Amino acid sequence: MNRRYRKTIIAGNWKMNKTASETKKFAEELKTLLPKAKWCDVVVCVPAVNIPAAIKAFKDMRVSVGAENVFYEKSGAYTGEVSADMLKDLGVKYVIIGHSERRQYFGETDVTVNKKVHAALEAGLHPIICVGESLEQRELGITMELIALQVKSALAGVPAEKLRRCVIAYEPIWAIGTGKTATAEQAAEVCTFIRTTVRHLYGARIARSITIQYGGSMKPSNAAELLAQPDIDGGLIGGAALKPGEFVDIINAANQE
Ligand code: PEP
Repeated sequence: MNRRYRKTIIAGNWKMNKTASETKKFAEELKTLLPKAKWCDVVVCVPAVNIPAAIKAFKDMRVSVGAENVFYEKSGAYTGEVSADMLKDLGVKYVIIGHSERRQYFGETDVTVNKKVHAALEAGLHPIICVGESLEQRELGITMELIALQVKSALAGVPAEKLRRCVIAYEPIWAIGTGKTATAEQAAEVCTFIRTTVRHLYGARIARSITIQYGGSMKPSNAAELLAQPDIDGGLIGGAALKPGEFVDIINAANQE
């Protein structure tokens, strides 16, 4: 973390978990556990149908609500899809784009990720752009090339003034939901590389100000060490974000000096 130059953001990704009533229960429990002063922004990304319940439940808690996906068209004959304007209108602030599960199961590509980033920014949302390599790609030694490609494609055509609203989440696929966390060194190496890639694209000032998260089995026991890395400005958290106690322990790890 480096709070002098950029925001620390702890974001939960609930994936396809929790009903609207469970969302309310989670928020009530979280409220009793959240520290009074927070030096990080807290975000909870919930399934689309739970967004209205989450907006209501997290109101007055300084917890932002995020979506887990968005479609890139503004409106039209796209059965089942949700537009960026629809999310914004509900009061959503963040949206996860390009999560590896969407790339793996729902045909998300670097091209659709870029279109979604543009649509989200156009609507005034803050995209959390996920990038990350598979185990095979890591073992082939092509992690950095792949990450550079994903970052450059996601940000293609994004002007510097809009980049301030983007968050990049480094999520090695082999660490997501597997219990295997990247070591602090592995995570830091890629997050630093992402910042260098942004610096080459946008210059030093903007690169210094962009929030880069780590995601992949982040939990209370490893959060402090990961967040102590200068280029890791927060976490995108799946499993541990479903339990208010564990989520707050991670928030507390980000709250330290
Ligand atoms: C995620 O879904 O983005 C994630 C990092 O999941 P987990 O923390 O469960 O590995």
